[in-house]
Amino acid sequence: MTERLYYKDQYIKEFQAQVVSCTEGKNGFEVILDKTAFFPEGGGQPGDRGFIGGVKVIDTVEKGEEVIHICEKAVEGAVDCALDFELRFSNMQQHSGEHVFSGVLHSMLGYDNVGFHMGENNMTVDFNGIVTADQLAEIERLSNEAVYANIPIESIYPTDEELANYDYRSKKEIAGQVRLTKIGDVDLCACCGTHVALTGEIGPIKAVSMMNYKQGVRITLQIGRKAFADYCEKNASVYAISNLLCAKTNEVAEAVEKLQARLKDADFRYAALKKELFAEKSKNASGESCLMFDDGASADDARVFDDMLADMVGVAAVFSGNDGEGYKYAVVSRESDVREMGKTLNTSLNGRGGGKPNMIQGSVSAKRSEIEEVWNNLK
Ligand SMILES: [Zn+2]
Repeated sequence: MTERLYYKDQYIKEFQAQVVSCTEGKNGFEVILDKTAFFPEGGGQPGDRGFIGGVKVIDTVEKGEEVIHICEKAVEGAVDCALDFELRFSNMQQHSGEHVFSGVLHSMLGYDNVGFHMGENNMTVDFNGIVTADQLAEIERLSNEAVYANIPIESIYPTDEELANYDYRSKKEIAGQVRLTKIGDVDLCACCGTHVALTGEIGPIKAVSMMNYKQGVRITLQIGRKAFADYCEKNASVYAISNLLCAKTNEVAEAVEKLQARLKDADFRYAALKKELFAEKSKNASGESCLMFDDGASADDARVFDDMLADMVGVAAVFSGNDGEGYKYAVVSRESDVREMGKTLNTSLNGRGGGKPNMIQGSVSAKRSEIEEVWNNLK
């Protein structure tokens, strides 16, 4: 059975140990040590990484009573071990922060934490009840107050009798000694993870989003160093938007709303002007067929233009684009089937496309003169 050093001191970064066994597994070499400070994945907290005898540890997991270090290469004998402590400390911040947040929420609303995932960039916590936005703001505020109060985080190992008298979260039938993590009167919870010694080390606790999930809510939290990194990223983003809009940082949403309204108005006027332009361009169109070119028109614009023309001529075609980049086309007829014309255009002009009997769309890689020639032979 591996001696678990992290339960004696969660701040051990380096230690020496003896390799008990090393076997090749699916994901690497599975190494068991006589003692370890590497925390194995469990209770929502990811497994530790680092080095054993200079060999990279990519994950740490638990198998029965043993801690398995997944290593890139084989190791043996007496080894110097080092944790990726930046990762571990961040995991401790996340885990302790989650306890504070869940403890405050439980005291206020009575809900339980029913799911917990510590990801690369943030953490999600699921609760079995609905939380309002106002309640969430108050839970956040009280959680951060608990951080400022710098409360000691203790591990207690109660007897069965003592345990029966404790009111704690995460009550499950656990065989053997139950370990409780106590944070003053903020939280008491059964937990196997590693925690910081004082709540002040957790840093900021921020709920960045909340959504309904199953019978309750899923809350995404940013805690500690990750919260700071998230703040920096969002701050840079808000300042960039603020510069682009020439608006104060706390007025960017209002500025975007104004911009959207102006854009909507401009779109409306642009559509009206286009209609006028198309009407002007098509005013002399008549007869069996008509071919028009419009550089700059979008595929949708070309179809609107074409639709207008089709009311005046038998078969109407609009090509938008230029000789360099090729053309998009739409061919419309109120009376005849234009699909055969489409096939001819595609084969003669290196194009592709198709559609319904009265309307086809596509694109061609050809010059305007070549299109005109093929079109004239079509008639
Ligand atoms: Zn825990």
